Amino acid sequence: MPELPEVETVLRGLKRTINGQPLCQLDSLYNGTVIYDPEIVQPLFPAHVTEFCRRGKYIILHLERGNALVIHLRMTGKLIYTENENEDAKHIRALLTFTGCARIIFNDIRTFGKIIVTPESRIDAYLPELGPEPLDRSFSYKCLQKGFAGKKAPVKNALLDQSVVAGLGNIYVCEILYRAGISPETSVADLSVSQLKDIVNHIRQVLTEAIAMNGTSVSDFRQIDDKTGQFQNFLQVYQKEKCPQGHEIKRIKQAGRSSFYCPVCQK
Ligand SMILES: [Zn+2]
Repeated sequence: MPELPEVETVLRGLKRTINGQPLCQLDSLYNGTVIYDPEIVQPLFPAHVTEFCRRGKYIILHLERGNALVIHLRMTGKLIYTENENEDAKHIRALLTFTGCARIIFNDIRTFGKIIVTPESRIDAYLPELGPEPLDRSFSYKCLQKGFAGKKAPVKNALLDQSVVAGLGNIYVCEILYRAGISPETSVADLSVSQLKDIVNHIRQVLTEAIAMNGTSVSDFRQIDDKTGQFQNFLQVYQKEKCPQGHEIKRIKQAGRSSFYCPVCQK
């Protein structure tokens, strides 16, 4: 599933690819993929994209006249640029056409992805409760203290909670906890301030490195040009058998997700 670095990679790819062309058409090819808010400001098209934003794992494209597209890739959604008219149509759920005939295909095998067309004023109605952005300057251990307050959940599960911190998913949380030397089973109630600071530092580092590598492609994720990311080559525990120190990696289930960790390096 795309996490913050993959969504950020797609967003940057969109900006580069759209390159100032106005969006002139949005076709829905699968029932339920494109959702229209009844209060859209008409006419919707043609419209330039005035701002390219990301919030957690959501892409938000602001359009002229005060509308916006909120795009959630969910499990398998991909946005792929094409100039080819005869693109394999099997998993295409929506099509964004730009003046000059450049097209961006919304390909989604599992069909959980969504494109919501809404007035900017109603964007929040389509987003879940989202915690702070981990790459914002203001993100600090105090945000985690606040998000973890009164909870006893294992730190792995708590970091996956989008209302605590936005954008993290299973792969990056495993990597972050390895680098911080903290077992995924540690209760958030038992974390010291210095451990919280470590977690914050490693969140920033891992996400920044992964964005620089255009994300992680362990399954479906592709960049806008259909190429894979490269951060999968730098994972230290996720789907690994040995940690970089040569210890055996343990795999456990937490809240239905696989956690990979090193019982020697992570306490
Ligand atoms: Zn180890």
